[in-house]
Amino acid sequence: MPASFRTREISGKTPCPCESGKLYRDCCSKRAVKWMRTPDGSYSKKMLASPEFCEAVKQAKRAFKSLFGRAMRPTDRAFPGGYIESLADTRRNTVQMLRATDCEPKVIYAYLKTGRVAPEPNDLTTVEFDQYVAAINEYFHYREQGASVEDLIDPETPERALTDALRNVLLICAYFVEEYINTYVLRGGGSSNVE
Ligand SMILES: [Zn+2]
Repeated sequence: MPASFRTREISGKTPCPCESGKLYRDCCSKRAVKWMRTPDGSYSKKMLASPEFCEAVKQAKRAFKSLFGRAMRPTDRAFPGGYIESLADTRRNTVQMLRATDCEPKVIYAYLKTGRVAPEPNDLTTVEFDQYVAAINEYFHYREQGASVEDLIDPETPERALTDALRNVLLICAYFVEEYINTYVLRGGGSSNVE
């Protein structure tokens, strides 16, 4: 009984949770992906995190503590960019960043299709890996059919959404703060202006 309350790796004879239709031992277990079964019966994917990722999480936890004065809880976001940026903004900004660094167009196209940037193949489940390869193949397929690179990786495709709205709110706040400082702080109060 207690064993079922632990999270542990699934058996090799289980159909792989990535839904490739293969058994786990013939599928994701051959990759760097480990499938675990949690006490509530659901599957979760455990990956071997890179040192860079671990360091980024450590820094994010430190930044969170200095900002909010308490340790991060599991429900808090490690990377608060999601609070101020919509998914569409993230996509667009990522595409622009990739273009600026002369990233190969096929990689940008695959990012738009899968949300992944040049992933480590071993970190993907079999199905995720197949989807990534399919996206790359699709890029070449459309290129052969005469589509231009610009057609395929247009950086303006996702709408600029929340970021602009927030920038405007910040500008309005800055305007009022400036007014306040000019009126009440520098002139020593609105009612007794020094001439
Ligand atoms: Zn699998």
